[in-house]
Amino acid sequence: MSEKLSLQEQVRERFRLYLTANGLRQTRERFAILRAIYEQEGTFTIDDLSEIMQQHRFHVSTNTLYVTTQLLVEANLLIRHPFSSAAAVFERIVDERPRSYQICSHCHRITNIKSKDLASSLETYHSRSFAISHRIAYVYGICASCQRKMHKRLKAVNTNATSNSTAKRQ
Ligand SMILES: [Zn+2]
Repeated sequence: MSEKLSLQEQVRERFRLYLTANGLRQTRERFAILRAIYEQEGTFTIDDLSEIMQQHRFHVSTNTLYVTTQLLVEANLLIRHPFSSAAAVFERIVDERPRSYQICSHCHRITNIKSKDLASSLETYHSRSFAISHRIAYVYGICASCQRKMHKRLKAVNTNATSNSTAKRQ
């Protein structure tokens, strides 16, 4: 519980500094959104966030959510994942541990990759000219569920083709 509070306090302070340094307003809405985001785990979209804010009985416009998430991305407090789904996918940054995800190009489902080798490669990568803020790797492909669906469909097409050609021959 105290750890959770200190994370909230830390991110609040970092956001406050970012807003001050950039001459931006420190509104109640912005901090309420930050708080709601840091109470969540995993990825979320603007629609999800809107629902969360409603659950908190805090009314904010969709535009405010867009603007604030963008500010949080710029402040390095939020990741905007470059996934190919229609809606932008965000995730809070809790620590500096490297993360890796596999993304299904078909259904856009995102799963964590638990690979020590990949994590250590990401951790040891350094650049002289690029100030790294977080280390994330993405692997794209087709998930098990989509593979199964595709196989089933392919099988059905093949069965139809076979029965059609059998029908023609009769
Ligand atoms: Zn899939």
